[in-house]
Amino acid sequence: MKLTTKIFLGLIAGIIVGLFFTGNPEVIKTYVSPIGTLFLNLIKMIIVPLVFSSLIVGAASTGDIKSLGRIGGKTMVYFLGTTAVAIVIGLVLGVVIKPGAGLIIPAGIEAAQQAAPSLTDTLLNIVPANPLKGLVEGNMLQIITFALFLGIGLTSLPDDKGKPFLNFFDSLAEIMYKITAFIMELAPFGVFGLIAPVVASNGPAVLLPLIKVIAAVYIGCVLHALIVYAPAVRAFAKINPMAFFKGVAPAAITAYTTSSSSGTLPITIRSVKENFHVSDKIASFVLPLGATVNMDGTALYQGVCALFIAQAYGITLTMPQLVTIILTATLGSIGTAGVPGAGMIMLTVVLNSVGLPLEGIALIAGIDRVLDMARTCINVVGDTSAALVVAASENEIEIPKAETV
Ligand code: ASP
Repeated sequence: MKLTTKIFLGLIAGIIVGLFFTGNPEVIKTYVSPIGTLFLNLIKMIIVPLVFSSLIVGAASTGDIKSLGRIGGKTMVYFLGTTAVAIVIGLVLGVVIKPGAGLIIPAGIEAAQQAAPSLTDTLLNIVPANPLKGLVEGNMLQIITFALFLGIGLTSLPDDKGKPFLNFFDSLAEIMYKITAFIMELAPFGVFGLIAPVVASNGPAVLLPLIKVIAAVYIGCVLHALIVYAPAVRAFAKINPMAFFKGVAPAAITAYTTSSSSGTLPITIRSVKENFHVSDKIASFVLPLGATVNMDGTALYQGVCALFIAQAYGITLTMPQLVTIILTATLGSIGTAGVPGAGMIMLTVVLNSVGLPLEGIALIAGIDRVLDMARTCINVVGDTSAALVVAASENEIEIPKAETV
């Protein structure tokens, strides 16, 4: 049986077991959750060395600063463009589905006690004053910046000076890929262990009152994949949509169950290289960057939630406010960490930007995990599509005949 099939079966089995134990999630938490946690810890173990080493190698192997600028530029244009489209889809669905209309806000509801950093702070924090601290704390944006600088520095050194450093990080990255292959074998169990507790503790009773928000986010994610990613990879990389979704499935399911783009990164890199034959150079540059700065699902979710909260409080948003939401959510998605729940914290920035009540987040908090799963899945599918599009534009991809359009 293929690994993708096994992972899918793990997902289905986890949902069934979770449903069976709704109302009694303790049993699942005691006996099944540890399997998921072990799987998560295994992937978390390799994220920092993987991102650091692969970005250094990725940036250095672009050859010179000019090509790095070109590839980086294309990547960022794709990231930001697709993210802006995602928010628009979220806003449109918010208007059409009206998830918050007629909702009676429970009295005395408390605001979520999480402070979001301001946009300026987020942008300033991208440059680490102490890079080693950034590495130890696993601050992805800072790690990316430092790795990119090292990569850029490397490209301007003569071979005899730069090679030893590059070789070291190249083999570190290769070792991380090997460890990923091993962890992937455990993915079916990991996925099972992660999904069962979520289903058991978010049974129908928790989900039903907010079913319209959930529907809007899930429909939005599917739409975004169908009207943005599938045509983009078809047009640029000449990959047929079925082959695209099949190839991206292991990473998508892992993202769905872990709710972490960063956590899924090793698997995303592996899928892109193995299933789509994207070169090392592009995969190891675009994907670590994407896992941290490209969050289409998160942006879409923020669009839906902003409208949901406005409707629940009877506030009508004006056109300039909608544009502000698009801008803030696009920039905010860069600062959102690829970890569970980060998007909800960033939502406060979006709400703040147009003066919507932050207490509204409390309405969503109870079901956020279920939304997080879908948005993370789309975040990762988006990163994959970016890698394919950029790789195709650089002639860095060899697609098997069967998969081409
Ligand atoms: N969990 C998401 C991710 O890792 C971020 C978010 O919370 O929106 O991509």
